[in-house]
Amino acid sequence: MPDATRGAVRYLTTKQLRETGTEAIVTNTLHLLIHPGPEKIEKLGGLKEMMGWGGILLTDSGGFQVFSLIHSKKWKGKVHSNGATFKSPREGNVYELTPESSIDIQIKIGSDVLVCLDDCRKTDLTRYEAEESVERTIRWAQRCKDHFNNVYGGTSKTGKLLTCVVQGANYPDLRAECARALVEIGFDGYNFGGFVVDNKGKLVEDEMRAVIENVPKDTIRYAMGVGKPEDIIKAAEIGYNLFDTVLVTRNARHGTLYTSEGEIRIGNSKMSLDKNPIDPECNCECCKNYSRAYLHHMMKNREATAQTLATIHNLTYYQKLIRGLS
Ligand SMILES: [Zn+2]
Repeated sequence: MPDATRGAVRYLTTKQLRETGTEAIVTNTLHLLIHPGPEKIEKLGGLKEMMGWGGILLTDSGGFQVFSLIHSKKWKGKVHSNGATFKSPREGNVYELTPESSIDIQIKIGSDVLVCLDDCRKTDLTRYEAEESVERTIRWAQRCKDHFNNVYGGTSKTGKLLTCVVQGANYPDLRAECARALVEIGFDGYNFGGFVVDNKGKLVEDEMRAVIENVPKDTIRYAMGVGKPEDIIKAAEIGYNLFDTVLVTRNARHGTLYTSEGEIRIGNSKMSLDKNPIDPECNCECCKNYSRAYLHHMMKNREATAQTLATIHNLTYYQKLIRGLS
């Protein structure tokens, strides 16, 4: 899933997005909560209606962003046993994110796949902190499920899926314990939460395995925030089947493009006379019609079209990679 952070994949129309082979997108609940707000989105028929998007829409709970902004002291706020209270620096409004309000917001946005609010923390947790986060995550997941069932009628009434997040930091036994407790409550998907790479940027494989070994095979197993092509391949081998990353589109905008022969930097001066397509094995609009030299020229001149073409190419590359895994 590419990130349509604020309800748009930057530089792409929905038609262009579809043509990259993308079937599902993820949006950022926190950003949409602050602007334009879930009530407005609901009045406009939901985000899919606004975007003209016929594919799958997954929303995050908003927790990851809120908690990391609060923990890093970038935003004023407090994480407590009931969720988080925080102040948006944009308008100064105060918001409260609880398990129940997170579900309400995601329903108003018009999500197909919802994510329960979890207690996501910084890296390098002590055993005690990790245990506390697991305990809270399980309790909040139960509250999310109860609210989804009691207020909205659950999956049978809405057709929407509810997934939860498995915490446990860098303690494989806590990851396993958290997964087992969540399976007992019962969800449509189990997402690997927290930090998926260690301080050296390496995938936390033992922790990821501990989760997979304890969740049912016929569910969504979402490796949140994975990632680089080689990490996606590794996570798929472990047993994950859903991924999202900002890398694909962000790298495209910064001129790093993926090809069957490795990454290239389109801004590099040696591209200025290269008449080859980005990737001769790619069938995207960019590779079929334009040379590396033309893209290099447009990037240097900050043409928005270059951003569009680079994003189309990178997304097409990733979707092909994903299709090759199944
Ligand atoms: Zn291409």
